[in-house]
Amino acid sequence: MNDTTTIDVEIAAAEVEEGAPEQNPVLFLHDIERTYRQGDEALHILRGAELAVWPGQSIALVAPSGAGKSTLLHIAGLLEHPDHGEVYIDGRATASLPDSERTRLRRNLIGFVYQSHRLLPEFTAIENVMLPQMIRGLSRKECEKRASELLAYLGLRDRLRHRPAELSGGEQQRVAIARAVANAPRLLLADEPTGNLDVHTADHVFQSLATLVRASGLATIIATHNMELAARMDRRVTLREGRVVEME
Ligand code: ADP
Repeated sequence: MNDTTTIDVEIAAAEVEEGAPEQNPVLFLHDIERTYRQGDEALHILRGAELAVWPGQSIALVAPSGAGKSTLLHIAGLLEHPDHGEVYIDGRATASLPDSERTRLRRNLIGFVYQSHRLLPEFTAIENVMLPQMIRGLSRKECEKRASELLAYLGLRDRLRHRPAELSGGEQQRVAIARAVANAPRLLLADEPTGNLDVHTADHVFQSLATLVRASGLATIIATHNMELAARMDRRVTLREGRVVEME
């Protein structure tokens, strides 16, 4: 299913063993609750949300603004604690792990792409992609090799030394995608990654993202408003009354 022959960089750390019976979901959200307080009011955003994401599976999360997409992604990415429930990453419960271990899991296993690129303005494209790998302790040479391969794969071979301000919106977002997968995560979480782009550019960036995800066997959740883009994912889910519901 995954066409790994067309990509010369191994993006996912783990090989996908299709059909292996003992395989765990990459992400399993179990009975997740999250309530925000605004003054006297309690906003029950997630109310027993369940979601399993299997290796290599791509999921579009399509729901109106304010439904809780970012909240769900932040909880899935161990950036936020739920009020109740458990987040399993590769079968491992994370709620009671110390912050240092949650940070380690996040750094090694999870990549994020946000609506705005969040690149560091003073660094070049290649340096932005190298940084997460350097933080992880890889040699500069290794980081540079992988970063340039990834950027070339995403069509940015001629933009390696450009700073974010010297790139178009679509190019900035492709650099952000390269940065998110630089450490070969198991799970990619993207929060409306094409939300700031015009229709044509959004389509191009989404195509790059979808190709990368398929070629690498990454599991991914992409929050998007765009049903055409969502149609290209393996599964479409929405949030209804704080729960994850399959769409069709
Ligand atoms: P979406 O990503 O679907 O637009 P969010 O997850 O960002 O939705 O937000 C869901 C709801 O929770 C919104 O009504 C938002 O205002 C509220 N919310 C999000 N974060 C907080 C917070 N830190 N404090 C209070 N309310 C919040």
